[in-house]
Amino acid sequence: MKYIFVTGGVVSSLGKGLTAASLGTLLENRGLKVVLQKFDPYLNVDPGTMNPYQHGEVYVLDDGAETDLDLGHYERFTNCKLTRLNNLTSGQVYQTVLNNEREGRYLGKTVQVIPHVTDEIQNRIHLLAEESKADVMITEIGGTTGDIEGLPFLEAIREFALEVGVHNAMFVHVTYVPFIKAAGELKTKPTQQSVAKLREIGIAPQILVCRCERPLDKELRQKISLFCNVPYNAVVEEKDVDHSIYEVPLMLQRERVDDLVCEQLRLDVPAPNMTHWQEILRKIIAPQHRVRIGVVGKYIELQDAYKSVYEAVGHGGVANDCGVQIQKVDAEEIEREGAEKVLKGVAGVLVPGGFGERGIEGKIQAARYARENHLPYLGLCLGMQIATIEFARNVLSLPKAHSTEFDPQTPHPVIAMLDEQTRVTRKGGTMRLGSQPCQLAVGTRAARLYGAFVINERHRHRYEFNNAYRQSFEKEGYVISGVTPDGKLVEVIELATHPFFIASQFHPEFHSKPHQPHPLFRGFIAAALARTNGK
Ligand code: GLN
Repeated sequence: MKYIFVTGGVVSSLGKGLTAASLGTLLENRGLKVVLQKFDPYLNVDPGTMNPYQHGEVYVLDDGAETDLDLGHYERFTNCKLTRLNNLTSGQVYQTVLNNEREGRYLGKTVQVIPHVTDEIQNRIHLLAEESKADVMITEIGGTTGDIEGLPFLEAIREFALEVGVHNAMFVHVTYVPFIKAAGELKTKPTQQSVAKLREIGIAPQILVCRCERPLDKELRQKISLFCNVPYNAVVEEKDVDHSIYEVPLMLQRERVDDLVCEQLRLDVPAPNMTHWQEILRKIIAPQHRVRIGVVGKYIELQDAYKSVYEAVGHGGVANDCGVQIQKVDAEEIEREGAEKVLKGVAGVLVPGGFGERGIEGKIQAARYARENHLPYLGLCLGMQIATIEFARNVLSLPKAHSTEFDPQTPHPVIAMLDEQTRVTRKGGTMRLGSQPCQLAVGTRAARLYGAFVINERHRHRYEFNNAYRQSFEKEGYVISGVTPDGKLVEVIELATHPFFIASQFHPEFHSKPHQPHPLFRGFIAAALARTNGK
């Protein structure tokens, strides 16, 4: 087993996760079994309780773990299967250490950061190494070098690398080389300082991935090499991508990062075959067709709140050789201006997941607009609940219909809390979470798209379609096309007389990859394209 540790310097948001994931892509394409892991230095036990302003999207795994969004990159860029073992926070480490202490496992010793916290971190590396049976494990350390919270993680990986030996572990440091306008040049000082900080801790990176807006010339590479004590060819340029994040693996391949890793770790494997990846990129950069999709949410100003949704929409585009322009629509703008005005010109409407009341009426108006104008609609989790409320109000003529999440007193609670949730008071890991089977009905659009009758998809919700209303909905052409195997929970719905109106209680976006676009997104973009082309 070989270990690669990815750290970050100078500033956050450098795309360490993308770099780690892209390295994973290259190594996987060289025939290696790769596993990726993320360490997050914050004290929350997981990001499940943080709001999107703090943390962006919460990425849900098959086993129901609520994790950092970088794990989404790991799953999209590689074929590795992730579980709760793949994301470790300081909160989890301390929780374990403190529980051990209360159980008397430290035999009366003083419990300290070194060795007890650092050992616990190393245990997690060993545990995942055993479970995954991978050839290479890539561990990304969240945060920036110099953060107080990050220190125990850096100390732990330093010790770990020492233990496994020079050809079994290596350090890749992702750093920033800013362009200073007034001077008209790229500056290397922040990189020098962040590497110095790492070396102070005892970590000497073997590869420096330099994030920059402009190309790193020879002179700058030489300077960084000299001052940071890294070989010249291991000073790697990672420029901002022009079109797509899926360019990053090819960029790293051009810089021969995978060769450097294989040399350092004594991995004798063939060069990667990236032709399929190049073809994906071709479809993103120079697609045959184009469509515009409106995504109606309440965190549209944030880059990361609907990360997996935006990615999956793009994959749906790849499947149709179609470039997708995403119009991010603020649900509250629809409330102010009306759906017609705001959504004019989009070929499909997508309402993603969400919590809380803000923007709900705007989303309901968007669903109505899509239904009445035969505009393709894809609803994800809250997006299915919204479509249901809209249908109740405007087709079943129950104007006060609502979800009890937003109006506990509604006379028509068409969306209501799951039974199992009514007794839950604790936050964090308590929703209906993770992969669950769903049975699709014969003859439905959902079954046609999936090409299967039993599917597994990931969930994260507390509310659900209220079964008391099933018959009245079905009579009016609201088709319940997917249910749990016991028939109790509605999982997928669609409209019988609409070219494409489909919504799921689960989150299909978490299962989509550029090389395996998700069927619902593929179908959605195909329908939007057909509309654009007037078919
Ligand atoms: N707020 C809704 C629920 O809890 C939807 C959740 C979601 O979209 N993830 O059921």
